[in-house]
Amino acid sequence: MKVAIIGGGVGGLAAATRLAIHGHRVQIFEARDDVGGLASGFEAGGAWFDGGPYIVLDRPGLEWAFEKIGLDISALRLTKVEDFYNVGSIHIYLDLQRTVEGLGDAGRAYEKFVNHMNMIRTRLEPLLRISHPNVLELARHGALSAAPFLLRSLGSVLKRSGLPRDVIDAIAIWTHVAGQTIDSAPSVMAFVPALIHCVGAFVPKNGMRAIPQLLADNARQQGVEIHCSKAIRKIVIRSSRVLAVDDIECDAVISNYNGIGTYDQLVEVRNRIRKKLRTMPLQSPGLCAYLTAKSENGPYLRFRLNRGLQLRVTSPGTVRMIMPFDRNASEEQQSAELQRMLDNPWWREGLSERDASLSRQHESGDDAADDAAWPAAASQSVDQGTVSRRRIDASRTMGQLLRDFRDSRRRLAARRSCCRFNLTT
Ligand SMILES: Cc1cc2nc3c(=O)[nH]c(=O)nc-3n(C[C@H](O)[C@H](O)[C@H](O)COP(=O)(O)OP(=O)(O)OC[C@H]3O[C@@H](n4cnc5c(N)ncnc54)[C@H](O)[C@@H]3O)c2cc1C
Repeated sequence: MKVAIIGGGVGGLAAATRLAIHGHRVQIFEARDDVGGLASGFEAGGAWFDGGPYIVLDRPGLEWAFEKIGLDISALRLTKVEDFYNVGSIHIYLDLQRTVEGLGDAGRAYEKFVNHMNMIRTRLEPLLRISHPNVLELARHGALSAAPFLLRSLGSVLKRSGLPRDVIDAIAIWTHVAGQTIDSAPSVMAFVPALIHCVGAFVPKNGMRAIPQLLADNARQQGVEIHCSKAIRKIVIRSSRVLAVDDIECDAVISNYNGIGTYDQLVEVRNRIRKKLRTMPLQSPGLCAYLTAKSENGPYLRFRLNRGLQLRVTSPGTVRMIMPFDRNASEEQQSAELQRMLDNPWWREGLSERDASLSRQHESGDDAADDAAWPAAASQSVDQGTVSRRRIDASRTMGQLLRDFRDSRRRLAARRSCCRFNLTT
């Protein structure tokens, strides 16, 4: 069978490889000039940055997926991030006992909560490896008895934990990253502390971007053809059968573009359905500032909850400042928010030799492929059209704008909101 895959993110690369292993002829069409999607990295001023993800939380899941496509996870040289994160005074280490001791009176309740969540998590985990579990399989793994838990929200699970507010905020911090409220987040988000303490949190030696790089090398070795700088505009369907993507014939299509965007932009659907698609909620892509800096000791991730969420990700030599934002915000509002984030001194703690800053924001009105073209900015923007990047002026307090930044990916450079700033303040 001839399979066309739209998009070379980690999902598209993994699917392509698996299909190629099974003897299909697979072609990936990627809009950007390189594969990786949200998980890719980029080079700026001699430093390498990860664009999106910062942590591997489900190592066994990654191990399993790698095995299915003939890869050994040891190639990533995963390292544990022992001093993992803090939110205000709450400090989470991978070591449960160390965390419990730091939590004082709340320590025992936290330990009990983690163990309870881990018990449910391990019971349900095998289901992650079954595509369409039937009732028998669900029953065998205790999913039916876990149904009441699965139907609850994270907020309701945490309310019953008896934990104090600041610890609840620290556990639920991951929902804020996605711009979700604790009461709209699913109960399984409560598995995160169980994963942290019982499985671990990891980063590949060469950054998260090493994951798509490895996947792409492997895909090519397995015979997958990868065509970059090729944005697909249309999936051609006749009598419920896929015939082609644009003018390239194929027997099947896998879209690695998000579901809403795929149906809204690549497939002919009735107006009624399109309207419905456009009312669906979209995840916040977030604003980001990239810096080079030397860091002394401290947690890998520092979260700050103050009106909204801010996150500092510290890697050797580089720092990223991330915040979710309302995707309906104007570019001026985004600029102001980004500036406010950088103006606040909290993120500078423990950093020295802070230097260049690249920043990113969104504007509406570009095409689908471009939407996904910037790592960590892959919005599912249907209601606003799609997004692109624009140069921003953050020079007000960050110092004089030194020069426009252009990275090696020429085609996209014009669209990125990358600027270089002097961080003298
Ligand atoms: C800021 C941030 C932090 C994150 N942190 C973590 C984390 O710590 N841990 C974790 O596990 N996950 C994290 N994630 C999530 C993780 O990055 C994504 O789930 C994952 O990378 C998605 O991969 P994907 O292949 O499904 O999609 P994508 O990476 O979005 O890939 C889609 C690809 O399709 C291409 N494409 C789209 N439309 C077209 C078209 N019409 N024609 C051709 N190509 C097209 C795009 O260019 C893109 O390359 C984070 C994400 C973000 C944004």
